[in-house]
This record gives sequence, structure tokens and C-alpha cells, in this order.
Amino acid sequence: MIIVLKPQSTDADVQAVCDLVSSLRYQPRIIRGVEHTVVACIGDELGNRSLEALRNLPAVDTVIPIQHRYKLVSREYHPADSVVTVGGVRIGNGEIVVIAGPCAIESADQFRTAVRHLMAAGVRLIRGMPFKPRTSPYDFQGLRDEGVRILRDVKAETGAAFVSEVMGPAHVEALADVTDMYQIGARNAQNYDLLENVAAARKPVLLKRGMASTVEEWLAAAEYLLVNGCTQVVLCERGLRSFDRSVRNVLDLGGVAVAKAESHLPVLVDPSHAAGKRALVLPLACAALGAGADGLIVEAHPDPVNAFSDAAQQIDSARFGEFLAELRPWLELAAARKKAQAK
Ligand code: PEP
Ligand code: MN
Repeated sequence: MIIVLKPQSTDADVQAVCDLVSSLRYQPRIIRGVEHTVVACIGDELGNRSLEALRNLPAVDTVIPIQHRYKLVSREYHPADSVVTVGGVRIGNGEIVVIAGPCAIESADQFRTAVRHLMAAGVRLIRGMPFKPRTSPYDFQGLRDEGVRILRDVKAETGAAFVSEVMGPAHVEALADVTDMYQIGARNAQNYDLLENVAAARKPVLLKRGMASTVEEWLAAAEYLLVNGCTQVVLCERGLRSFDRSVRNVLDLGGVAVAKAESHLPVLVDPSHAAGKRALVLPLACAALGAGADGLIVEAHPDPVNAFSDAAQQIDSARFGEFLAELRPWLELAAARKKAQAK
């Protein structure tokens, strides 16, 4: 940490700061500038107590942390891209994935039809969502246990691999034998108890970024998974809350590029929840691949207009092949660029 003192600080002030810094197990080094005196504090910011409390001292102007609040997710710790394998599908290090499926499982017929359409289009990882986090308790909440039964039946029939959102430990347990990847949604992106619980299940995890989380908070949330023993983590940007209602959420492609640079974990983009409208999903998907995403997770439904949730943004699953065909040049370019970067 770096502590910047106010211009009029006396030698006694500097000494008081240094004494406090030493008592918190950092070594203070005094740097006297023309206007400001700076105390550089040497020590492990993750292992030691934070020096942020020093902000309250009258002589202190600012306290600037140097270390990130994460370690295991960082490229400094693990320089090479990580690969996460889900149901035989590799994500990361040049392998571009497209996950697709309905916002929610609504009935056996609806889900079975969507899975058949998507698998015919070449999709190998399917959104299988029996549990839905909804802003209003009056909205469709998912079929819950019945949805888990449908997931199990459709897996037995098709051999599909699933990504399923969990909102609590009971969901983690209910889905343990049927899902291939747990999703932590934007609303639970900083639910640290849940992150620890999911990590303990030792399955791959798709961690969405919270709708108002900084990139650092997103990566620190991923650190909870890694530090608790989950090694197979995929990040997912899904758009940030903003003042502008022309899109549902503002897709932060800068955040995708930063996450790729800062972390070795694969980064996916969810263009559907960012767009909020069907027509915007394709351009956002193309842009995401251009920004360096390792793939996409897209909502697709056999009868989108009558979907129980997110009807405006879901793509017709019967026409998912057409969507993929339009995306194909960007998918190929993204894979080629990643291969070239790896050399
Ligand atoms: C979802 O993927 O079903 C979902 C609810 O997305 P988010 O958590 O990004 O809102
Ligand atoms: Mn949805």
C-alpha cells in the first residue's frame, strides 16, 4: 500500500503513520517529495490487515492499495490460458463455445423440442434452467423440482450436457447428478456463502458478473471459487445496469478485454441478457467475439413469443442454425486469432 500524507504534515505526523504501519506488520519506507510525503508500506496486502483504516488519520490524504484482491485467478499466478472441460466440451485457450437454451424449462415438451433443435444445429452445451431468479415474486419462478425431473429425462434421451443456475445450497444438491456446470447468476454474483457452497461441489462453474460489479469484484468473486477448491471456473459478462433503456444492460466489452488480460480463466459473453431484444443479440455476439471472448451463452426457445420469461430476447430454437451461420465468420476469426496469439 502507498500512503500519501497531506502537504502540511509534520515529522511527528509521519512518525505516527510509520508506527501504525509497523504495528500492522508492514515495513514503512518514507519518500519525501516537493509537496507530499509518501509512505510506501512493504508487506503482503492479502495476508496482513488492510491499512485502509489509516484514511481516518488527520494527516493522511489517500491510501492506495497496490495488490489486487485476488491471486489464484490472476495471470501473474498462472500465465497460460486455462481450459475448462464441460461434458466433453473444451472452453478456453482457443476453443470457442456457443452454449444455448431457453431462459427457463417450462414443460417437458418445450424443453425437449429446444434441446433437439439446438443439438441438430451443433450446440453441445445447453441451458437447462429449472430454477429462475426473478425480480418479482409474482413472475414465473421455474418448474423447480419438476424441472429437475425433466432435465434428468432429457439427459437420458439425448445425452446433452447442461448448464444450470443455482440460487442456494438446496439447488446445488438437487442438480448434482444431472447438471454438468453450475451457473451463478448476476443476482448472486457476490453471494459468498453460495460461492463457497458451489465450490465444494467440485463441478465446473459459470460465474456471471453482477449487474453493478466492477471487474475487480467479479474476479474477487471468482477467487472465492478457486480458493475453496473449484478449479474449473468460467467467467461471463452479461451487461451492466445503466441509465439508458435502449438496451436492457450495457455490455461491457472493455471489461471482457480487461478480464482476459488480468485472468487466465475463460471469459464468455451473454449477449441475450445484455440485448433484451432479439434483433440485438447477433450484433452483440459478433462484438463479443471481436473483443476476445472465448464463447457465448445465448437464449433460444421453440416458441419465443409465448415464452414464460424473457420472451423479447430469445431466438427461435428452430432457426438457431441460421443464427450460427451468420455468426460463423466471427467464430472462425476468433478461433484463428486465439491460435495465432498462442504461438
Ligand atoms: C440467466 O442466465 O438465466 C440469467 C438470469 O441471467 P443473469 O443472471 O445474467 O441475469
Ligand atoms: Mn433469461
